[in-house]
Amino acid sequence: MIAGPRGLWHKGARRVGSTGPECVMLVLGRPLGLLVAIALGLASLYPVSASADERFSAWLADLRREALTRGISAATLDKALGGITPIRRVIELDRHQPEFTQTFWTYLDKRVSAERITCGRDLLVQHRTLLERVAAKYGVQPRFLVAFWGLESNFGDYTGAFPVVAALATLAYDERRSAFFRAQLLDLLAVIDDGDIAAEAKASWAGAMGQTQFMPSTYKAYAVDFDGDGRRDLWNSLADIFGSSARYLAAAGWQSDRTWGREVSLPPGFDLELTGLNTRKGLAEWQRLGVRRADGRDLPRVDIDGSVILPGGHAGGPALMVYQNFRTTMVWNRSILYAVAVGHLADRLVGGGAFQTPRPEKEQPLFRVDVAEIQRRLARLGYDPGGADGVAGPMTRRAIKQFQRGARLPADGYPSVGLLERLRGATVQ
Ligand code: CA
Repeated sequence: MIAGPRGLWHKGARRVGSTGPECVMLVLGRPLGLLVAIALGLASLYPVSASADERFSAWLADLRREALTRGISAATLDKALGGITPIRRVIELDRHQPEFTQTFWTYLDKRVSAERITCGRDLLVQHRTLLERVAAKYGVQPRFLVAFWGLESNFGDYTGAFPVVAALATLAYDERRSAFFRAQLLDLLAVIDDGDIAAEAKASWAGAMGQTQFMPSTYKAYAVDFDGDGRRDLWNSLADIFGSSARYLAAAGWQSDRTWGREVSLPPGFDLELTGLNTRKGLAEWQRLGVRRADGRDLPRVDIDGSVILPGGHAGGPALMVYQNFRTTMVWNRSILYAVAVGHLADRLVGGGAFQTPRPEKEQPLFRVDVAEIQRRLARLGYDPGGADGVAGPMTRRAIKQFQRGARLPADGYPSVGLLERLRGATVQ
């Protein structure tokens, strides 16, 4: 589960510890530099250089006061906050920006691997009774519960190795997203106080916990003690893990009698303006527009709405008809590719096949700097891609669509090498 950090990389992230005394020496030259060096050396004995620690201690004391006013016990706060210091590695990971944007197929291959499918099928059989009990109570089908479990922690293989209190304190103390992480830290302390989470629990660097990778606010609101042992334990109890996932999904609007979506085929000349999550139509209407199942058969005759999406662009991946459960998956993690991976893995666990759309012979991943160039060029042409941060979010996709429409290109809103080349050749009107 991601409540925030992934995919929200910040522009202008500052480098950590980039200015040290050696920079000062180079600028000042030797004699003066020597004096500065001596001064800095002396300063380290005095509170000037200890002020970073002091600032953190003062911040922690303030946080502790706020936690106390929320009714969290002093004993819990002493145990959880005693002796913690910021974790430098957490800040490094928070500032890290991947060099490439992932293509549809590279993303999918990694998350819905043959090994994960095999493993998931075994686990679905092994835990069938428990999964059915959870499904009966919350209305989330077993194959989806196992798919979320596989994507979040590889079925419990990996739940993170950072001490969660210190990791969240680091991010709450840091200025980049302090309000969000401060709230998460306070929720975490409340759940520790309740006895559900150990003060020394480990998590991902951004505070996602247990085999479901719940953030503290989700843990606090939705985790459930499904095995009835008195603790909501998302590290060790499969009953609690499946129960909590299902309870959260149910609250987000999961439909127990529906699937997530399916691969479809689009007729020649299909208006790509109709693609995207903003357009919803009844299946009968899509049928009338020529949309069929991937094998050419008619769409199901049920009275539900769907949207046609092209997660890899019109030439780089399948066309999918997605339903309400796809949107609910995006409440858990707002990435479209993640939601496709969950649905596709769930299908594969019960015998569904691979996507029928052939993958392009050679996929060309875009560098982040390429996406940023696309954004700059769109802005220069008068479109509004929402900044040049190298991440193709909804605004950038909308701006791409507008450009494609004007240039009489298939308007799929998808950033690609071809689009970049086209933009390089475009002239300002
Ligand atoms: Ca329990």
